[in-house]
Amino acid sequence: MKKSVFDLDFQNTSVESRIIASLERISQAFRVLLWQEGMEHSLSPIQVQALIFLLHHSEEKRKVSYLADEFNMTKATISDTIKSLEQKKLIKKEFDPRDTRSYVIHLTAKGKNIANKTALFAQQFLAPVEKLHNDDKQNLLLSLIEIIRHLNETDIITIQRMCFTCSYYQVSESGKKHFCKLLNQELKRTELRVDCPDHIFAKQKD
Ligand code: SF4
Repeated sequence: MKKSVFDLDFQNTSVESRIIASLERISQAFRVLLWQEGMEHSLSPIQVQALIFLLHHSEEKRKVSYLADEFNMTKATISDTIKSLEQKKLIKKEFDPRDTRSYVIHLTAKGKNIANKTALFAQQFLAPVEKLHNDDKQNLLLSLIEIIRHLNETDIITIQRMCFTCSYYQVSESGKKHFCKLLNQELKRTELRVDCPDHIFAKQKD
């Protein structure tokens, strides 16, 4: 029988399990900070996440179906979130004249103001990361990107916009040199992106 990474006897003999347990602790910290930030503005965590996403992403991504995939939620749940943000006058909808069921979501001035404030909720994580040696930052970033790629390939994270799955991305045979054909430049390991506005899927999943 497989052992759980949360089984302490097993965990303390397995570095992989301790890494996963550490990621879980970090994700818990994200949840706590999101919750606290939301409480200050009478918003739920998903409402805070939606506002931050809307603040930093282009129009074609600011639609209910895209948000549902982004947050791995149903369209109905995201529609409720958007409805609630609209009632709070934080967003407004711009309907498509060719299809009145479809709309782009825009932040109002009040919504932008709150999104800018709440987007700082993760600042506490910056201090320890900034203190890392540059080589450790590179290794950490690459390792996290590999974990995200695996989670995407196994359909746990539906959407990601990182270099490794982009049609503009090229890697040398040795796997050590990374290149962006759009920017027409080599990307250092610390320059690999996890959320690129120009990302285009190299191939669509079935
Ligand atoms: S377009 Fe963006 S995601 Fe694609 S390779 Fe270039 S930097 Fe990476």
